Amino acid sequence: MRNGFFETATMVINTVPAQLIVGQRDELVSHANQLVREALCPQKGASNCFCTNCRWINNRQHPSLVWICPENDYTLEDIEVIFEKTRFSLDDGAVFFFVLEKANQLTAATANRLLKMLEEPPAGYHFLLLTTNAEAVITTIRSRCVLTNLASASADESRHVLLQHFLNQHQPPDPFIFESELKKQGLDDAQSAALFEVLANAVAALYKDAVLSGNHDLIEQLTRRQELIERNMRRLPQSGSSDLFWKQLWLRWHQ
Ligand SMILES: [Zn+2]
Repeated sequence: MRNGFFETATMVINTVPAQLIVGQRDELVSHANQLVREALCPQKGASNCFCTNCRWINNRQHPSLVWICPENDYTLEDIEVIFEKTRFSLDDGAVFFFVLEKANQLTAATANRLLKMLEEPPAGYHFLLLTTNAEAVITTIRSRCVLTNLASASADESRHVLLQHFLNQHQPPDPFIFESELKKQGLDDAQSAALFEVLANAVAALYKDAVLSGNHDLIEQLTRRQELIERNMRRLPQSGSSDLFWKQLWLRWHQ
């Protein structure tokens, strides 16, 4: 291992040699750019970082990055660079990125040529395939990638806003605002269960902090809330009773 940031970056990224990222074109490009910066910049791509690595990455000139964006369908010539670069093995702990925009424009021939590489790239080489339409990506490619959907990631985040109505001590409980946000989310049963788990974990963490800091009022309040969570854990919403579940929980929570 050469230095710290390579180590961490490799630990995070090494588990996933090939990712297929789905989203709007602009967010795809900035998301991929950010992933590369997090791995190659000593500041992990902090928003105010303008180090040489970040500048090279932003200009697509970084020696550990090849960014491909074909006009039309991919040709074998477009992807040849991948095989040229990967002939060389990287230093221990180093990482190298190939970003392939418009992954839905990989043809059968280019996909075939890439399959083995995506499946088992030489150590340290990573592939970020970007597309606005996952369905249009050749199945053999899709099945070799870990899929990340940027739209659903941001939907997750916006769902977490709902939890502020349970966790934010500084926000006075307001049933009308809560109900209108609940309606806006339109949670189904599975999403409710997932969100409830996030809430349960957050309360458990708060409880731990309260115990450590010896805040007795908070410990008492959080003990009641943990009991409430346990009771509700056994009656998670089924068959579309999500909104009712959250409303009742909210009422008891703020009693
Ligand atoms: Zn930087």
